Amino acid sequence: MSEKDISFRDRPINMDAKGSRKWVYAKKPKGEWYTRRTIFSWFVLLFFIGAPFIKINGNPFILLDIASRKFIIFGAIFWAQDTFILALLMLSFVLFILLFTVTFGRLWCGWACPQTIFLEMVFRKIEHLIEGDYKKRYKLDHGPWTSEKIIKKVIKHAIFIFISMAMTNTFLLWFIGPEKWFNLISQPIHENLSGFIIMLLVSAFFYWVYSFFREQICTMVCPYGRMQSVLLDSKSIVVSYDYKSGEPRGAKNSGDCIDCGQCISVCPTGIDIKNGTQLECINCAACVDQCNSVMKSIGKKPGLIRFDSENGIKNGHKPIWNVRNRSYSVVLLILFSFFIYTLISRPVIETTILRTPGLLFQENADNTISNVYNIKIVNKTHEKIPLQIRLISQKGEIKMAGNKMEILDQSMFESTFILFIPKKQVKSDKTEVEFGIYSNNELIETYKTTFVGP
Ligand code: SF4
Ligand code: SF4
Repeated sequence: MSEKDISFRDRPINMDAKGSRKWVYAKKPKGEWYTRRTIFSWFVLLFFIGAPFIKINGNPFILLDIASRKFIIFGAIFWAQDTFILALLMLSFVLFILLFTVTFGRLWCGWACPQTIFLEMVFRKIEHLIEGDYKKRYKLDHGPWTSEKIIKKVIKHAIFIFISMAMTNTFLLWFIGPEKWFNLISQPIHENLSGFIIMLLVSAFFYWVYSFFREQICTMVCPYGRMQSVLLDSKSIVVSYDYKSGEPRGAKNSGDCIDCGQCISVCPTGIDIKNGTQLECINCAACVDQCNSVMKSIGKKPGLIRFDSENGIKNGHKPIWNVRNRSYSVVLLILFSFFIYTLISRPVIETTILRTPGLLFQENADNTISNVYNIKIVNKTHEKIPLQIRLISQKGEIKMAGNKMEILDQSMFESTFILFIPKKQVKSDKTEVEFGIYSNNELIETYKTTFVGP
C-alpha cells in the first residue's frame, strides 16, 4: 500500500506527514441529499435567527440570561434556584444526543450543527458564488495576485466579515433578548466600549473559523466528534461504502466501484469513505449524491455509498432497534418524565433569606437584639404577587427596606430587612427562626434560618 493509501490511519487527512495543514478544496455538492440538507438548513438557520424573537405567554422562546441567572427554554423560566431541574433537562438532552448517535451516527454534525450549517450553507455557498468551484478556487489560490484575484478576495472577505458580525449579534440575541439588544445598538459606542470590543473579538473569531480554520473544528477540536469511536457500533446507521458490491474496484475489475475518486472530491473533510467509517466523517451525504450520479452514468444501481450500518452492508438490511438503543430510550423516557414532573410541581415562589454577610447582631436600647437579612424571592408565575413577610416561630418585628413587597410576573424581588427579637427570647448565640411568606393573608411559603445573639 502506498503512503497515500494508509496515511488516513495515522493522521487527519487534512494534515501532511509534517503536521502542516493541507487545504481541502471540496467540489460543490449536488444531488438529492444535498437538496434535502439545504432545505433542512434553512429551517435550522431560521430557528437560530428567529428563536429569540418568538414569544410564548409574553416570554421569549429562548433566553440564556447569564447576567440575571435566568434561563428561558421553550418559554419555561429557570432561575438559579432551578439548577436541579435545568440539570435534568441538560442530562436528558445529552442522553438524547447519545441515543441519536448510537442509532444514526454523526448525523447531527452534517445536518444540524451550527458550525456545519454556517460553513457549508452560508460561507461555502458565498465562496462558490465568488470564486467558483474547487478547480477554479485552487487555481486562484495558487496563482499570482492579479487584479481579478484581489477583487474576488476583497469582496469575499468583506462579506465574510459582515456575516461574522451578524452572527455575533444573532448569538447575542440568545443571551440578552431583542429589547436589550436594540437598546444596546442604539447607544453611542463610547457608552458601551467594552461590549463593543467583545463583539468585535467574537466576530473576529467567527471570521477566522469560517475563513481559515474551517473543517478542522469537526476533525480536531469538537469533543463530540472525538466521542464517535466509543458511541458507534456495527449497528449504527452511518454513511457507508458497500464494499461487498464495490470491490474489487477499478474500471477493469468486476466490482461496482470504478475508483473514480469523485466521492473524495466532494468531501468537505477530505476523507475517502471507501476506507471505512472514520471520525472525520460528518455524515453530510455529499459522497452519497456524487457516487449515485457516477453509478447512474455507468448504468449501475445507486447506493454504493449509502446510509447503512456495518451489519447492514455485511448481512443485508437489519432493523435499527437493538438492546443498546432500547435501553437508552427507556432511561431517557424516565429522565424526561422526571424532568416534566419536577417542572410542573415546582413551587410558585422560591424564597432565600440569608443573614447579611459580615454583620453579626446589634443590641438595642429597647431591650431587643437585631440581625440584618438579605431576602430574595423569585416569582415563577405569570401574575404580579403582593407579598408580606412575618416571623412565625416567635415574637419579633421585621423592618423592611422600602415599603412595598411586590414581585412582577416571572421576576425576582431582592431586598434587605432587619429582624428585632426581644432579648429574653434569645437563649443562645444561634437561634432558629422561621419566616412565613404571605400573599393576601395566605401562607404560601415558609423559610427557616438562624438568628445570632450574644
Ligand atoms: S464515487 Fe463511487 S465509484 Fe467513484 S470512487 Fe467513490 S465509491 Fe467508487
Ligand atoms: S465521507 Fe461522505 S458523508 Fe462523510 S463527510 Fe465526507 S462527504 Fe460527507
